[in-house]
Amino acid sequence: MMITNGCIFCRIVSHDQPARLLHEDDICVAYEDISPKAPVHALIVPRKHIPTLIDIEVTDEKLLGHLLRVAARVAESKGLSGFRTVINTNAEAGQTVFHLHVHVLGGRTMRWPPG
Ligand code: 5GP
Ligand code: ZN
Repeated sequence: MMITNGCIFCRIVSHDQPARLLHEDDICVAYEDISPKAPVHALIVPRKHIPTLIDIEVTDEKLLGHLLRVAARVAESKGLSGFRTVINTNAEAGQTVFHLHVHVLGGRTMRWPPG
């Protein structure tokens, strides 16, 4: 898999940078967020470098479905029966790492609408 220079999440999925791993398979890696915004805050990250949700192509549809299924499994493994899944797209939505990822947040009551 090609590693995109300077991308922190490419470095984590290729084990060049440490993270607290929760799940790993051929398609994605899940790990604890370094700056958790809830008692449980995991990131589900594809091995493929895709900058944002806007860059998803038809051939990535299966990958996206896989990320969501893993998100649910990770939440379950953390003992959560309810949780929030989030994909921030571009800076105006709060995206800071431009390698697609699904947030899984839980362990506290979630407010709606999000800020
Ligand atoms: P975004 O703001 O792009 O939706 O989410 C990026 C997330 O990645 C943030 O919640 C941030 O705390 C997390 N993050 C940034 N750098 C690292 C890192 O080096 N390791 C881990 N585990 N999480 C990171
Ligand atoms: Zn990347």
